[in-house]
Amino acid sequence: MGWRQSLLRKTMRKQKKTSARKGKSAMFYLILSAIVWLAPTQPHETTKTYADLVKFESRWYGVDPLLVVAIIQVESGWNTRKRSKTNDYGLMQVHVARRGSSNFWRREKELYDPRTNIREGTRLLAMWKRYHERWCKGDHPYWAHYKWGKKVGEISHALKVLKLRDFLARKFRPKSDSYTASLARAE
Ligand SMILES: [Zn+2]
Repeated sequence: MGWRQSLLRKTMRKQKKTSARKGKSAMFYLILSAIVWLAPTQPHETTKTYADLVKFESRWYGVDPLLVVAIIQVESGWNTRKRSKTNDYGLMQVHVARRGSSNFWRREKELYDPRTNIREGTRLLAMWKRYHERWCKGDHPYWAHYKWGKKVGEISHALKVLKLRDFLARKFRPKSDSYTASLARAE
């Protein structure tokens, strides 16, 4: 893990300089560091774009940004072109069905675009969060619905995401409480 750590440190140093100029938030760095850690060989411009997208969409839809990062890692490993046999597309493996919540029937290829994919994936996540809180009230994490729809089968996938999300939060949470504060706003 040594080379990864040093890459991360270098990234953070460089970013801190630019950040002061551009006024990027602590939340942006938290997301950026997590993605650099998970996908160290990805071009830095790409990572920055993803960090911006995750930050914006998670705030817009009111979900935990590190949860979105963890889902991308588990679902596609940052492969924008991934397509599964069960009709799941792109970074967040957005499920496309003829019936149901997704608007991408016959427009599936649009989901290879990271912007569209992260927006739609985060929107679905927020939708399932509402469903879980209002109607389901089961004792699984709400994002289990992201994989299963209304009826949650088993939760090993959801727990894997949870474990990764908690790891990232512990590892990259800034010393200040700005992350907690932004989370409170997002929730
Ligand atoms: Zn539920």
